[in-house]
Amino acid sequence: MSNKAVFPGSFDPFTLGHNSVIRKGLPLFDSITILVGQNSSKTSYFSAEKRLEWIRALYKSESKIKVEILDSLTVDYCIKNDCAFILRGLRNAQDFQYESSIAHMNQALQHSVETVFVLCDIKYAAISSSIVREIHKNGGDISQFLPSSIKINRI
Ligand code: ADP
Repeated sequence: MSNKAVFPGSFDPFTLGHNSVIRKGLPLFDSITILVGQNSSKTSYFSAEKRLEWIRALYKSESKIKVEILDSLTVDYCIKNDCAFILRGLRNAQDFQYESSIAHMNQALQHSVETVFVLCDIKYAAISSSIVREIHKNGGDISQFLPSSIKINRI
């Protein structure tokens, strides 16, 4: 398989933390496909179409980055599309705990696909999509947590 990676996630919404993971992953891989999840057990706050549109616009001039909706298992997508690596980000030990379980499950499903973790920059370590959603739901300004091209009005 080639040196291609996927970066799967809910990205609900895509934050500066996610962007930091992409920036750190870019020198490591020939390409990164961002897979926007539609998790059947999680109702998303922003629609999959909106999330896809925001991320595509953000990376429109970055030839190594593609953005797709994920509607299958991540490892199945990887095998079908010749991607050998799953990129994931870590903020802290709690993320590691959670992420290592997912990585082991994916390893059990498909041993040829390896998960690679990158540690975010410390300045983004407190940013989480769930807290950003809470701020937005309660009428707060979330712009400082998002890449500047992603403009989401206050409610
Ligand atoms: P999921 O619902 O699959 O966990 P997320 O959109 O919450 O999707 O996160 C996708 C990936 O980005 C995960 O690996 C998560 O640990 C990582 N991530 C989220 N926020 C940050 C951040 N601020 N810094 C670094 N990595 C992050």
